[in-house]
Amino acid sequence: MKIVFATNNQNKVKEVQALLPNSIQLLSLKDIECFEDIPETSATIEGNAIQKAQYVYDNYGYTCFADDTGLEVEALNGEPGIYSARYAGPEKDAENNMHKLLTNLMTKSNRKAHFKTVISLVGFSPKLITFEGICKGEITTEKLGNKGFGYDPIFKPEGYETTFAQMPLIEKNNIGHRGIAVKKLITFLTNK
Ligand code: IMP
Repeated sequence: MKIVFATNNQNKVKEVQALLPNSIQLLSLKDIECFEDIPETSATIEGNAIQKAQYVYDNYGYTCFADDTGLEVEALNGEPGIYSARYAGPEKDAENNMHKLLTNLMTKSNRKAHFKTVISLVGFSPKLITFEGICKGEITTEKLGNKGFGYDPIFKPEGYETTFAQMPLIEKNNIGHRGIAVKKLITFLTNK
């Protein structure tokens, strides 16, 4: 069985493929020669994940899954959310994004936040299935650590004394939003 992972990140494809039985072959967008910008115009993380997978299913005819992730900060009414990548501007610069978030939180005592990943799978029965991974935590007052990417240096997961950026990747994957959602997807696909 061939399934498309709607991503251009070959590393993400390899990581998930390694966890799947040989009977399931993952294809990337490049593999199916999908080079256009897939629309991501929904107002929610879940909506964007669904939109991407549905687009590939409708236009290329493959069963497909797509992921979308955002950081939702309680005191900022869920910001940056769907704007996580481009919070400080279209350059999608992680340093600027963190700086903007720390500045916006300067006067707030509630620093609770969570990462949310939604993976949507289109083409099986039922036609649409979504898998969610949430990692609760808080935004630190300064950047700590240099591992990871994005907001990792300012996100401290609940029950831990270090930020994601101070943790070995294997530990982050174990407790992290994306890891949780991917595990649910793998369990579903493995039992198909
Ligand atoms: P995407 O949907 O995986 O592209 O994630 C959107 C944006 O959320 C990224 O550009 C990052 O800014 C942020 N983000 C997603 N996952 C993580 C993470 O695991 N750590 C830190 N930031 C993340």
